[in-house]
Amino acid sequence: MQQTDSAPRVPLEQFKRTKIIATVGPATDSFEAIRQLIEEGTNGIRLNFSHGSHEERTIQIEWVRKASEELGKPVAIIQDLQGPKIRLGDFDGSIDVVTDQDLSFQYGITYAPGGPIPTQYDLATKVKVDERIYLFDGKVKTIVTDVRDGIVYARAQNNGTLLKRKGMNLPDTDFGGDIITDKDKADIEYGATQDIDYVALSFVQSATDIENLRTMLTELGSSAKVIAKIETKAAVDELDAIVQAADAVMIARGDLAVETPAESVPVVQRQIVGLGLRYAKPTIVATQMLMSMTENPEPSRAEVSDVATAVFIGADCVMLSDETANGKYPHEAVATMKRIVLYAENNTPLKVKYESHENHSRQASISRAVVRLAENIASKAIVAETRSGATALDIAALRTNMPIIAVTSEARTAQQLAICYSVKSYVRPIDAAAASKLTDWLRQENVLHAGDVVVSASGRYPGVVGTTDTIKVRVLE
Ligand code: PGA
Ligand code: MN
Repeated sequence: MQQTDSAPRVPLEQFKRTKIIATVGPATDSFEAIRQLIEEGTNGIRLNFSHGSHEERTIQIEWVRKASEELGKPVAIIQDLQGPKIRLGDFDGSIDVVTDQDLSFQYGITYAPGGPIPTQYDLATKVKVDERIYLFDGKVKTIVTDVRDGIVYARAQNNGTLLKRKGMNLPDTDFGGDIITDKDKADIEYGATQDIDYVALSFVQSATDIENLRTMLTELGSSAKVIAKIETKAAVDELDAIVQAADAVMIARGDLAVETPAESVPVVQRQIVGLGLRYAKPTIVATQMLMSMTENPEPSRAEVSDVATAVFIGADCVMLSDETANGKYPHEAVATMKRIVLYAENNTPLKVKYESHENHSRQASISRAVVRLAENIASKAIVAETRSGATALDIAALRTNMPIIAVTSEARTAQQLAICYSVKSYVRPIDAAAASKLTDWLRQENVLHAGDVVVSASGRYPGVVGTTDTIKVRVLE
């Protein structure tokens, strides 16, 4: 992306502030489908590295960039790593399980009826007696009774049926900081050669996991930011440190609801969004938001409410997984999500507020002043010059209802800001008057109008991170 040349076609007031991430999969695996997703309101594209080859990914990344260029709209590309997602191995048919039955699991074996069930991961080196193993999204719950000679023995807690390759969740197991698998490492190395904005780490257990990934990315010369996927009990126990360590956080409700009680997930969702606001880290509410739309063109009442709730509590993004990857109605799903987001934002007086310890850094203080000023004089927009994106993120975390227009010299920053609340970003050369020039251009393009007031935040040293020192009020002519 060179400079962003196209002006928005809808008035600033009609932008949705909460962003949409869509997962690309078989249902949307073409340039046309991806372009349409973006046109319909998708701001971030998630590539799920649990499936697909690097060759396929390379083509999809090209499609996203081409579509984004054509539409003049920066889009974030998210590489979602599989992480230690443990699955059963192959076997024919199904295995019926009854309460109190003793089961056994072994890595990489061929199944013989009555013998150990194959797994795709060597559990025996990690799990301990009395820990829980949940199979098939928690449909069959077991407790480990013994670990011997590479075989894990466990007793079933309920009746159920197992199918090959279904997931296994180990909510009590400590992976000892070893959550980035060999497959993930290969995917990270591949990703570093590609135009990727975020890398999402699955099954994070501690802030150290985030730091380990960050070190790998830095060593590979990648400028991608790190998203922590919260989907383990260990992560919930260490939320504050993980949110601080990561650049953005995903509430991965699919696995989270297996590893922790389902009823605790909405509470954790609120906590994570609150921490995101406190530390100016974008938050993503993920999984099953419009699940029924994989089969139906209309969402359920509960799903509509779920998306609206994410907006009310102040999430930056709502995410679609199967709905756009494998569903029958991927485009309807994005359009529906956008309608719910816009209606929720435009028809409630609610302003998100999170009780937060005042941050007295110069950066945070300037951001608060900018927002207070802009709101008091009813400005049309806030314009932020930003190199790293930090100024825009700080302003966005205050959840002002007005559009935040970010001007940056970095395509990477513009793309990363695509999934941040209320931020619309433009790529322009570094320049002492970048903010004024951009508003002049938006005025020419009739996005802003004569008499509109804009408040801008800029710095004396454009392009130098953390040097914002000027707040300007301009009335456009
Ligand atoms: P996944 O993560 O789709 O990669 O499993 C999201 C979730 O668990 O909700
Ligand atoms: Mn998951």
